[in-house]
Amino acid sequence: MKFLVDLFFPKVCLACGFLGSHICPICYTKLKKIDKDSCFYCRKPGFLGLTHSFCKKRNGVDGNLSCFYYNDVLKKIIKNIKYRLVREGLQELLLLIPPERLHRLDSYNKLYPSLSIEPIPLFKTRLRQRGFNQAEEISRYLLKHFDFPQASNLKRIRDTFSQSQLSNKSDRQKNIKNAFEVLSKKQIIGKQVLLVDDVMTTGSTVAEAAKVLKKHGADKVFVFTLAKG
Ligand SMILES: [Zn+2]
Ligand SMILES: [Zn+2]
Repeated sequence: MKFLVDLFFPKVCLACGFLGSHICPICYTKLKKIDKDSCFYCRKPGFLGLTHSFCKKRNGVDGNLSCFYYNDVLKKIIKNIKYRLVREGLQELLLLIPPERLHRLDSYNKLYPSLSIEPIPLFKTRLRQRGFNQAEEISRYLLKHFDFPQASNLKRIRDTFSQSQLSNKSDRQKNIKNAFEVLSKKQIIGKQVLLVDDVMTTGSTVAEAAKVLKKHGADKVFVFTLAKG
């Protein structure tokens, strides 16, 4: 069956169109893995991407880890996964996460043993159109490696423009403002949460989600993304 699917719907590289796989060997070499973790706010190097104590913000993000720089090749791949609905392409990309990145995440797991994983939710109509939430797929992949409990305490309460259509930070902040709500306030109090998303550029989306969680009593909020711009 798979042979027939491959025959009629051959896989093409999501970045260059080359036949054979969703990420061809040449484009794979162009993916640039993150080699220095940095503080969410000042973007200067920081141990494990933990926010420097002097950069901490009230109701802010406490640390961030990402896997690849959001360069042109990765932009094309992720855009095609989302808008041409190539879910399988995301699975291929997940398998390319360097093991070292997973080891880093394991350090978070050890430092914050009560960490639970929370994918950034999509608005319901968008989820229906797309058929999958890329953040949930990434979370599911991480759960194969770690025994984080999974949480679904965030809800997207309004649709927003795609952040990628907005170029500046203040427009992105306005676009995402008040887009999330917590489902069960009791579940959030004192919790250490790892937010998961596919892409982080200005960080407005995860910062807004962190703010909502913290306002409802979350103790720590960290972020894990596939790509970082
Ligand atoms: Zn390619
Ligand atoms: Zn800093």
